[in-house]
Order: sequence, then C-alpha cells, then structure tokens
Amino acid sequence: MHELSMAEGILKAVIEKSEDNNATEVIEVVVEIGKMVLINPEQIKFLLDVLSEDTIVKGAIFTIEEIPIEIDCPECEYKGKIDDDELDHYAPVVNCPKCGNKRLHITNGKDCIVKNIIIEQED
Ligand SMILES: [Zn+2]
Repeated sequence: MHELSMAEGILKAVIEKSEDNNATEVIEVVVEIGKMVLINPEQIKFLLDVLSEDTIVKGAIFTIEEIPIEIDCPECEYKGKIDDDELDHYAPVVNCPKCGNKRLHITNGKDCIVKNIIIEQED
C-alpha cells in the first residue's frame, strides 16, 4: 500500500504544521508529487479526503501537482526532462533520451513534498 503510507505521511505533516501555526481550519493543501514516485494522484486525493475526516484538515482542498522527471546522464551529459508519459508503473525504467543509458542521476521528479498549506487562524 504505497499510496496509503504516502497519504498518511502527507497528512501527518499537514496536521503538525497547522497545529504549529494555531490553525482553526485548513483551507487548501498543495502537494508536489514527482512522476518517479509512481503514484496515482486521484488515489492520493481520495485517501487524503478519507484520512482527514476526523482531523483539523477535514474539508480542505487537496491540490496535487505532478513534477516531471529530469535526469542528468553521466554518459553523454544530457541534462533535462525525459518522456515520462509511457513510464511503466510496475517496473519503471528511465532511459536517457539521447544515448539510451539507464544509469542516470535523477535530479527531479522523485520526491513527494507538501508545498503549501493555506490555513485559517484565530484572531
Ligand atoms: Zn545519455
């Protein structure tokens, strides 16, 4: 249950941050998910809705932004984006678009981070 543990982690971070800031309500949460994380954004949104039910985050809008994969190829020195639309969710293989090398440094698109939280505070 990759998605479930990820949704739980996101929610925990949001709750901690909201409590630190004396939030009375959480309006919106923006989450960045790299395509290399291989997660279904719709599923994450659904899980966040369900898991937030009895928390301060209940009713918040979850916005998921997908971050494209970027690589740095040590063979041909290609740096940049790759075609990640056809990425196999079960066995992701990333190739250098220039030389086909598979041993790449992935420089972007492998993280899942809570980018922004919009809260309502007590006056
Ligand atoms: Zn290359």
